[in-house]
Amino acid sequence: MRFNDAMTSIKILSDSLISQIAAGEVIERPASAVKELVENSLDAGAEQISVEIEEGGLKRIRVVDNGIGILAVDARLAFERHATSKIRSQEDLFKIRSMGFRGEALASIASIARVELKTHHADERVGSLLEIDGGKEVRFEEAACPLGTEMNIWGLFKHTPARKKYMKSERTEYGRVFDMLCRVALAHPAVGFRLKRDGKDVFDLPSGQSLRERIRTLYGGETANALVPVTYQQSNLIISGYVGKPELARKSKKYQFLFVNGRAIESRSLHYAVTEAFHSLLMHEKHPWYALNIEMDPALVDVNVHPRKLEVKFLNEQEMFRAVRGSVHHALQGEMLSPVMEVSEPVRAHKLSFPQSAPVPQRDFAPAQKTFDLQGTVLRPVAQVANAYIVAESEEGMVLIDQHAAHERVRYARFMNALEKAEPLTQPLLTPLELDLGAAGAKVLEENLKSFQAMGFEIEAFGGSTYLLRSVPAGLEKKDPENLLKEMLADLEKDAVKDKREQILTMAACRGAIKFGDPLTMMEMQGLLADMETTKHCTHCPHGRPALISFSFDKLETLFKRKNF
Ligand code: ADP
Ligand code: MG
Repeated sequence: MRFNDAMTSIKILSDSLISQIAAGEVIERPASAVKELVENSLDAGAEQISVEIEEGGLKRIRVVDNGIGILAVDARLAFERHATSKIRSQEDLFKIRSMGFRGEALASIASIARVELKTHHADERVGSLLEIDGGKEVRFEEAACPLGTEMNIWGLFKHTPARKKYMKSERTEYGRVFDMLCRVALAHPAVGFRLKRDGKDVFDLPSGQSLRERIRTLYGGETANALVPVTYQQSNLIISGYVGKPELARKSKKYQFLFVNGRAIESRSLHYAVTEAFHSLLMHEKHPWYALNIEMDPALVDVNVHPRKLEVKFLNEQEMFRAVRGSVHHALQGEMLSPVMEVSEPVRAHKLSFPQSAPVPQRDFAPAQKTFDLQGTVLRPVAQVANAYIVAESEEGMVLIDQHAAHERVRYARFMNALEKAEPLTQPLLTPLELDLGAAGAKVLEENLKSFQAMGFEIEAFGGSTYLLRSVPAGLEKKDPENLLKEMLADLEKDAVKDKREQILTMAACRGAIKFGDPLTMMEMQGLLADMETTKHCTHCPHGRPALISFSFDKLETLFKRKNF
């Protein structure tokens, strides 16, 4: 490769270019500018923060706070690179409690846009106004303004047109601002946040809210009512917040919020910890809903590892993983998770029974649905429908059960229990069976032999790819053992699932379960319901599908319009 002359002579870059380069890392898009400004407001102790966005933030971003304000002598300094009031020494860098610390954001923003700062420090009689365009001061004067700080950013990226080309549509950029602000607002429920888009109010979140209240205001009552509280406390680590019951799980990962000392962060490992804790409660492609706060000694977490401070590094990643997984697991264990029944009410009937004067019931703010608690509940079978569903009743209402899903869960729990005790639930065959599994089948079996044995398959090598099968897991004895084993091996080979033992367990639970379509006698239904009452997480099958849907008497009365809203 040949270099041209311009590339071989070394020059020190101008300050403005240095700032613009730095801006490239810190201010990637309007949402990152809003994030930096809002974080400054939080660091200034603001209780109320208002954000206004025009044209996706590219035309104008306005952030107003009622924080401490900036002293007139400091106003210019705030826009210098590496100028910060938040840290002084290297030591400080490792115990950061503030959102900002690098002193880069304002300098970066001012180098690529026109910035107007109006600020009034609580200790001063009057405020100041400072305007900077592309890093150059335009004016600086005394100004009458309320206590706190107002930042106006006009024409973000106007001085770096090449970067502006990378911006997506106004709608997309606005969407990122919205998501980002929701994140910050959840991390700081005690602070009031207001958002306006192109002159229109989007939300107004009052100050002094609890996390649950904030979730309710942002995402509605249905979400807020399906939260399971998480608590964990150790000397230097507190985990609090909520995970959503399985019915809140979504295909998108949008509703996953993780905060470390008030900072919204992303962490693959901790995300995985939450997902693992949900284990068999969720369907494969569904992601859990969660908003978790981690409060910890700032010396044990490095927040200075990502240009936009989105990722952090924990000194003891493993301990964090275990704490998060453990606390979420514990929270879910204590909860009998009953799926919320989704019945859409016919619109016509609704209109008929509620003349115009009646208030339209707002779905989001509907009263809490009485959730169904299986433990302690006695279920009585009433009938079977379509050889697939069981209608049952309890003291609290009516329950519809997916017979296969429910039995699958009962079996799964039993096998799991047997595995934990290392006492396989096994059923000997009348005569041992000689099976030729073929080379491929034999390979998969050998790789997972221990798991098969732990599950109740008594099987031993008989030379070549031939094996002798002596017993099968309980409940599978009525199946054709040869077919069963071969199918399971084929499935194991096909799927690139990591946890093969878990998969074998799920397969054993599923294969021996009552089928969708099996007619059941009253006795059989009774038996299944009795088993369900003593099985944990019986509201969902091991794949995470609901196994029962409950209708409280309250809900039935509402549906049949016996009760007013
Ligand atoms: P950092 O936040 O890393 O210190 P910034 O460039 O974001 O760097 O801000 C520089 C300084 O300006 C801050 O340290 C703070 O002293 C001051 N500042 C910025 N925004 C505000 C605000 N809204 N209220 C009070 N002070 C502010
Ligand atoms: Mg800052």
